[in-house]
Amino acid sequence: MEKCDILIIGAGPGGLAAAVGARKAGAGRVVILERDVSAGGILNQCVHDGFGLIRYNEQLTGPEYAVRAVDEALKAGAEILCGHQVIRISEDKTVAAASRYGLKRFSAGAIILATGCRERTRGAISIPGSRPAGVFTAGVIQNFVNVRNIMPGRRVVILGSGDIGMIMARRLTLEGAEIRAVVEVLPEPAGLSRNVSQCIYDYGIPLHCSHTVSRIIGKKKLEAVEISEVDENMHPIQGTEQIIECDALVLSVGLIPENEVAEIAGVRIDTRSNGTVTDEFLQTSVPGIFSCGNSHRVMDLADFVSQQGELVGYNAVAYINGSDMKPWEESRGTSMAKGFPEPDTVTCTLCPNGCQIRFDGEKYEGNHCPRGVKFAEEERISPKRMVTTTVKTEDGRLLPVRTDRAVPKESVRDVVQSLKNISVRTPIKCGDIILRLTDASGETAAVIASSDMYQLLPM
Ligand SMILES: Cc1cc2nc3c(=O)[nH]c(=O)nc-3n(C[C@H](O)[C@H](O)[C@H](O)COP(=O)(O)OP(=O)(O)OC[C@H]3O[C@@H](n4cnc5c(N)ncnc54)[C@H](O)[C@@H]3O)c2cc1C
Ligand code: SF4
Repeated sequence: MEKCDILIIGAGPGGLAAAVGARKAGAGRVVILERDVSAGGILNQCVHDGFGLIRYNEQLTGPEYAVRAVDEALKAGAEILCGHQVIRISEDKTVAAASRYGLKRFSAGAIILATGCRERTRGAISIPGSRPAGVFTAGVIQNFVNVRNIMPGRRVVILGSGDIGMIMARRLTLEGAEIRAVVEVLPEPAGLSRNVSQCIYDYGIPLHCSHTVSRIIGKKKLEAVEISEVDENMHPIQGTEQIIECDALVLSVGLIPENEVAEIAGVRIDTRSNGTVTDEFLQTSVPGIFSCGNSHRVMDLADFVSQQGELVGYNAVAYINGSDMKPWEESRGTSMAKGFPEPDTVTCTLCPNGCQIRFDGEKYEGNHCPRGVKFAEEERISPKRMVTTTVKTEDGRLLPVRTDRAVPKESVRDVVQSLKNISVRTPIKCGDIILRLTDASGETAAVIASSDMYQLLPM
């Protein structure tokens, strides 16, 4: 039995920040148990930018945010044990984890659940029709494309216009797929306006709101889907059916907090959301067991998950010391614009607020800070985007990369295509320059590694 002050389950942004919070609050031994082979959680497969805008005031990709979060946890003195799947938590705060070294047991003064979430599947939304190959969830596709270099199909329909659905629509487009439709049951896109603007509008992807996939067609392999308009009760309206031929259907229909181990410990779970039920200090129904991040409630931004993680780390130490805890303010993040951008506006993407800025020929309106004016002006005259993608390494893996600055919007596809022809040698550190992009006027941008990649050791 290994002893520690604070034991954290999950090394995503929530768990990593909780470790920092606990160490800053004076905890002795802080251990994070992570089932995956590396720390960072879901961020490792999110190669797009849009992370860290609040926490670091920078546009980072998911893997870059993960590198920073891991670095901060290690510098704070936390131990991260990867390849450790927690299988049982007891009410006396002992934990059993399966690892390649066998079953390990830990006892802790307080436990923090930071186990993230998983995706809703076709079963959860009951789409009628056959069960052919070619139906995937968005997170699985993200892993296929960004980590395993597998394309799921060439003609794709996406069901769900939350942020993950829209981000994958852009990613698959840049990888050469034709997104035949993004289908959304609500009258408006479900995700952030900045993603509607950057992922859907930028690439002219057809978006069908107030529609659903009403049938899946194909025996062994997916051949087509039928989409239908829905009524106010979200039921398909007869006579509105359209058949769209496709070879992949990507479901982006919501996330469910992952709390199986929490349930074993007797933690109360909200039966509607599957999130943990906590008090304002994020302590669950079992004293000394806390919860943060997506396992508590699914959050839009990793930045808020990290803020919450740090607070929970502090509170877990306060629990052990018998001192005052700090409450979590639920209202964080509510100012972010969601749904369709207003007509004739530019959606500012410099921070998650996504202000919608209008130009009346003389002045700009709708920006909540001066940076928005510069952004809207550039967007009107010569729009630019950061390129995020992957390149192959010589040992056959994929390295997430990005440009070090935004490049002209119309050149994004060309940059992604040109990067398909190169392969790079490991080891590589996050921030290393992979390639310099030049045009007739000289260097335009550099392509940099957005994650660390180590050399594979011979087995
Ligand atoms: C496709 C997609 C796009 C996104 N885009 C953005 C964006 O642009 N900007 C932004 O800020 N945010 C974005 N997010 C949201 C952000 O990534 C998440 O909110 C955040 O990563 C959640 O952090 P977490 O620590 O709660 O969970 P996770 O990152 O999911 O980490 C949970 C960890 O717990 C581990 N775990 C689970 N169960 C066990 C167990 N029993 N034993 C051991 N380990 C376990 C898992 O392996 C995982 O590593 C996006 C998310 C997705 C999925
Ligand atoms: S204008 Fe709005 S979206 Fe843009 S940086 Fe300022 S607050 Fe953020």
